[in-house]
Amino acid sequence: AAKNKGKNQYTLFSNEMKEKQQFKMILTSSLFHAQERNEFMILYQPQVGAKSERIIGLEALLRWKHTEYGMISPNEFIPLAEQTGLINEIGEWVLRTACMQLKAWIDQGLPPVRMAVNLSVVQLRNPLLVQQVKQVLLETGLDPALLELEITESATVKDFEFIVRVLNQLKAIGVSLSIDDFGTKYSSLGRLKDLPVDRLKMDMQFVQDIDHSEKGAGIAKAIINLAKYLDMRMIAEGVENQTELEFLRKWDCDEIQGYYFYRPLDAEVVRKILQQSVSNS
Ligand code: C2E
Ligand code: MG
Ligand code: MG
Ligand code: MG
Repeated sequence: AAKNKGKNQYTLFSNEMKEKQQFKMILTSSLFHAQERNEFMILYQPQVGAKSERIIGLEALLRWKHTEYGMISPNEFIPLAEQTGLINEIGEWVLRTACMQLKAWIDQGLPPVRMAVNLSVVQLRNPLLVQQVKQVLLETGLDPALLELEITESATVKDFEFIVRVLNQLKAIGVSLSIDDFGTKYSSLGRLKDLPVDRLKMDMQFVQDIDHSEKGAGIAKAIINLAKYLDMRMIAEGVENQTELEFLRKWDCDEIQGYYFYRPLDAEVVRKILQQSVSNS
């Protein structure tokens, strides 16, 4: 019986794997049509000054509204877009749409906040990327200083010299750069100082540890200090409560992004919030 059970379990397990694999294939094939079907949209999550609590930036976060399966998380479909190379087109669309949106808001008299756009490592390795970014800025007329590109720490692990060259080319356009999910991947601390980046984004996991243990709080403090000594700005993401906020403020973290202030929001909602901030000042 035990043997039987073992066998059944094995079968069950492998069926589940098969189903997952099949679902991935279905998603991947519909990903090829998502753009022409207008299934992508962008939400914008405000970033605020830790002390001022004023909005100083927005992060563009991609959403896929699948006709059959509903909203699919970027954590699920970005890897598929990377495997198929589709991320190059999709990423360009995000970049253009986010820049266009911010420029339109500024032209309407809203405050010139920063726009942060996530870049996949696949895009970083695309030889057309730098030209693409230049082109989008030219077409939209957005001030390059208002664009920030977020790269994940893991993107810098392989071919370090090559990546630094690309980052320097991006910096030369006038955009700023930040390291996303900082502290979660095995990038070398020794090389961090050689990266031409302006900002570190403390990963959510460290923020969440702040109110869980002394050691957790210690790590968060150390990351803030690291940024300070490297002359980089620090933003914490995933801030959900007052305790986390006050700790980060106390230890001089520059900026905050998290549900405590704002969730990722529809463009129209962001426009209204920015509008209010103008009339309140
Ligand atoms: P990320 O760039 O680190 O973005 C932050 C993620 O944390 C977002 O998830 C955001 O909604 C979530 N978040 C923000 N504040 C809080 C909070 O207080 N609590 C919690 N629990 N979560 C919070 P989202 O939008 O699901 O995106 C997940 C990841 O997908 C992003 O992580 C990014 O790596 C990737 N992604 C999203 N849009 C794009 C894109 O246009 N291009 C690329 N290459 N990747 C993207
Ligand atoms: Mg990001
Ligand atoms: Mg992150
Ligand atoms: Mg917590």
